[in-house]
Amino acid sequence: MNIFGRTKEQLAAALKEHDIPRFRADQIIRWMYRRGAVSFDVMDNLAKPLRAQLAEYFSIERPKVVSRLHSADGATLKLLYEFADGQTAETVLMRHPYGNSVCISTQAGCRMGCAFCASTLHGLQRNLTAGEIAAQVIGISDFLRTEGARVDTIVVMGSGEPLENYDNVIAALRLLHEEYTIGLGYRGVTLSTSGIVPGIERLAEEGIPISLSISLHAPTEELRSQIMPVNRMYPLADVLRAARMYAQRTKRRVTYEYILIRDLNDGVHEAEQLANLLKGQLASVNLIPINPVSERNLFRPDKAAIRRFQKILEERHITATLRREMGTDIQAACGQLRNRLMEAGL
Ligand code: SF4
Repeated sequence: MNIFGRTKEQLAAALKEHDIPRFRADQIIRWMYRRGAVSFDVMDNLAKPLRAQLAEYFSIERPKVVSRLHSADGATLKLLYEFADGQTAETVLMRHPYGNSVCISTQAGCRMGCAFCASTLHGLQRNLTAGEIAAQVIGISDFLRTEGARVDTIVVMGSGEPLENYDNVIAALRLLHEEYTIGLGYRGVTLSTSGIVPGIERLAEEGIPISLSISLHAPTEELRSQIMPVNRMYPLADVLRAARMYAQRTKRRVTYEYILIRDLNDGVHEAEQLANLLKGQLASVNLIPINPVSERNLFRPDKAAIRRFQKILEERHITATLRREMGTDIQAACGQLRNRLMEAGL
């Protein structure tokens, strides 16, 4: 049994089945989550016969880093993790002036089919387990610890639709919140969804104060369905209703992501429609000029168009920030590195 990804309680229960006392779970868990141990051999506060017994029943398996790319400015590090069955997923460390943020993946591939996204080009392979999701952050945390730094925030915005893998995502966040892993505050977590309405409603009742980010990308049903096929199942009007309910229930501001695509959704008309749609909400818009994705025929608007769009929102009292570009030189857009390696047969 691979114990990486287990909580202390789950590990204690597994140990009990082999008559190993509960306090051993404390010792093992610290080695595993805070000291990077991947074998029982190194756990020198456990007697040798116990280490041998543990190795007989259990293993500690973490995903392997199979590609590591640093951006030229040093602010972004992109990792491609490979899991035990050969599936892969990307994780990105972004070093902001206000702290270190990690963008994690929740599925290998994705079935949502968003037009601008490289992660969906090969469809969904499978959900990642809670351990595989948490391992992405713990791996980066281990790396940062060598520099005397830590993971400050997490964005659940990498490959996959997190609310389609709800239980594993929540279990991973709860694990990362534990003091014996990285003790991450829930307020430092932002989860981004393409708009899975039942998942948003469930999350509002979960009792963990994480921030919600909704991928909007269009101000009308028709255009949104064109860019995001999920809109046919969960229409924009229902997504906005669920988002408003989330904001009211959790008292957390909802962020709307809006990828700006030249001549598709970046015009004056769309900006005005978007402002009308969000009027009077506890919300802000994060504008993201599309990252060049060679597989797709979608282009980035010029600077004037981006600024014009932002200005229209601001004039209508909608907070609109322009996402800082990070790591375009290392294909930091979701799914690009994984695709390149898949296409190369790696
Ligand atoms: S943007 Fe997110 S939800 Fe849409 S296809 Fe890409 S990974 Fe899936």
